[in-house]
Amino acid sequence: MPDTLYRAAFVLPVASPPIRDGFVAVRDGVVIGVGPIGERPPAGEGAEVDLGSVILMPGFVNAHTHLELSHLEGALNGERGFVTWIEDQLRVRAERPADEASAGIQKAIAFLLASGTAAVADVSNSLATAGPLRESGLHALVLHEILGFDPTKADRVLDQTRAARAPLLETGSAVFRIEVAAHAPHSISRELFALLIADGGVKSIHVAESRAEDDFLRDGSGDWRGFLDRRVGPVAFTAPGTTPVRYLDALGVLRPGLLAVHCVRVDESDARLLAARGAVAVLCPRSNEFLGNGVPPLALLLSSGVSLALGTDSLASCASLDVLEDARFLARRFPRVPGAAILHALTRGGAVALGFEDLGEIRAGSRARFAAVGFEGGPPADPLAFVLNEAVPARGVA
Ligand SMILES: [Zn+2]
Repeated sequence: MPDTLYRAAFVLPVASPPIRDGFVAVRDGVVIGVGPIGERPPAGEGAEVDLGSVILMPGFVNAHTHLELSHLEGALNGERGFVTWIEDQLRVRAERPADEASAGIQKAIAFLLASGTAAVADVSNSLATAGPLRESGLHALVLHEILGFDPTKADRVLDQTRAARAPLLETGSAVFRIEVAAHAPHSISRELFALLIADGGVKSIHVAESRAEDDFLRDGSGDWRGFLDRRVGPVAFTAPGTTPVRYLDALGVLRPGLLAVHCVRVDESDARLLAARGAVAVLCPRSNEFLGNGVPPLALLLSSGVSLALGTDSLASCASLDVLEDARFLARRFPRVPGAAILHALTRGGAVALGFEDLGEIRAGSRARFAAVGFEGGPPADPLAFVLNEAVPARGVA
């Protein structure tokens, strides 16, 4: 017998077709049944919770963010380009006190829970987010981010980051894990990439995000060269003369389940390569727009068979941590892409990509973590279109 029986005007289970006037039965935090209200199981006194005029969905998955940058909300603008934004971010971050960062992390986690997000992949250099996320009630994959373009320091970077991560590895659980992220193809030396691959590979990397990255990998030129000269000093680098995706493949970085974040500047053969390697394209379209990097080619990625997930990126390049708004952005820009594909990326696609098999759909055995979008007046004819097209915030239900 369920200990909670939710009733909602619509249930979008993702794993199965939408249900009008549906129920979701829960026991001990796990779904034990879903279906039309007429088929609900008997529930004990007080167990039935009528959510009313809402569309109930699996909790969302934010497959790319940096919660440690949350205190930079509104502090930066993207109008002077990607590389200037990175330099501004490094400067402002160094100026701000650590307690501001901690307060920002806590506020961000509270927002994620309240707005219907069930899981995050959180990229962190400092690992300051690990403790708060482990206690948060979110499913969390913390991605320890590694950077290093000076080949002579590659060994040291690997050793230092391994040592920093070691005490946290044993705190892992079914809902909390730590893995490694490489920052980007243009911010890591070939030597450091080789060490990372030999050490088990990376789970996530920013790739094909900006023109600066393209220029640098094509012939060593552009804004990124200037940045490296200022920050690292003169370092010899032979440009691979290819696209970021093909360069990563040559290095052995592309592999099943890799979170390939952004994938804005990909051509057809890049997209086919991502699909063939089983990488997941994590799209953060609002961040891309903020930084003037363009729009990810959603239709091309889908037609090439690339698995998709969605992320917000950080509050330093995005107005909110509400990943539903990224889904809505894509629905607006790609009206011919089926809404079901976007909902899948927002939920199940992200859950599988992060290794949280018990999230992202509503079916017997899945975790009872939901998002609800309310409507006023009569029920919408197409609840999924309502979710993707109306500016109504979601709230978490658990
Ligand atoms: Zn990012």
